[in-house]
Amino acid sequence: MPIPRATKGVLLVAFVATFSALAVATALSRLPKRELAAPEAWAALERHDPERAASLFSKELTERPRDPILHFGAGSAAYAMGRTKSALSSLKTAVDLDPDFVEALTLLGQVAYERGDSALAIRSIEKASDLHPRDGQLKELLGRWRRESSVHSSYLEKPAEHFQILYEGGAQQNIGDRVARVLETEYWRIGKALNSYPSEPLSVILYTNREFHDITRSPSWATGNYDGRIRIAVGGALPSSRELDRIVTHELAHAIVATIAPRRVPAWLNEGLAVYFEGSDRSWAPEVLRNASTIVPLENLARGFSGLDEQEALVAYAESATAAEILCAQVGPNIGSFLQSVGNGRSVDDALLDFQVQPNAFHAEWRRRVGVR
Ligand SMILES: [Zn+2]
Repeated sequence: MPIPRATKGVLLVAFVATFSALAVATALSRLPKRELAAPEAWAALERHDPERAASLFSKELTERPRDPILHFGAGSAAYAMGRTKSALSSLKTAVDLDPDFVEALTLLGQVAYERGDSALAIRSIEKASDLHPRDGQLKELLGRWRRESSVHSSYLEKPAEHFQILYEGGAQQNIGDRVARVLETEYWRIGKALNSYPSEPLSVILYTNREFHDITRSPSWATGNYDGRIRIAVGGALPSSRELDRIVTHELAHAIVATIAPRRVPAWLNEGLAVYFEGSDRSWAPEVLRNASTIVPLENLARGFSGLDEQEALVAYAESATAAEILCAQVGPNIGSFLQSVGNGRSVDDALLDFQVQPNAFHAEWRRRVGVR
């Protein structure tokens, strides 16, 4: 039975709310042509309420354990909550039950990639692309992941206790050693501050500058990136050792924040904490703010800085660092629990109240420090 028109709309919006740009585009072009069970669960996903969606999908699955769309829904809800292990398992089941289920294959590829399983990621997208050979985005993604995989396979792996570090070897030997030392030290320092010590090894890749920008497609001003893996540009014009330490520490902070709260952390909070944990001198921030022509409200800095030019990004980092400094002072040793609350869906203001901080006081102090009257 075809999906009723109204329900199709719900499914579409759920895709938009939940998935990567690629999966959204894929879903827009082809919806599963079959009966859609558990419409309330899809509606919950649409409302950004994946906890409710997960519980409804799970209930429905007890009645219809062999419905691939329900497993796909359960996988989508788990993914939206940042529970990638559980998402992977649901999506594998969806694909086992229906090997031609392109949307499930696409999301399975995405989740496998985020979990560091490049082989499964590439296999899943290959299959999806075979089923829809005219989909340019699938092709583009597949090409990018294959290139990345071939670059990584030419790298050496440096053993470290909590990390898997890939690097070029040769001339990069010293850099690899230094990065490994910094990572281990900072793992304990940031872990202690956030009361969280990731148990699964974190993946770290040290690239040449060209490979870094080719693979991450980061803005030209960026030298580090965290997207489930810590990626750092170390080749070409080498950063000074202190600058390298700073970048490594910054990206590690993102990785530890992501293990506490994989979703829903606004970019200003994420970036602010990463700058805060860099631990180096932050006197540049007030200076940047004094000279800034515009101060962007924090709520407009929730979605990431990659669209900003270098100057705008500098101001955004300074604003975020100021916010993080105030938060860390006001929330104190509970900053890890505070992040967990935000990751569980509490707004920043509600989470502040949970820790006896008045949101108004936080925002007023931030406005005062960044120079907004
Ligand atoms: Zn960052």
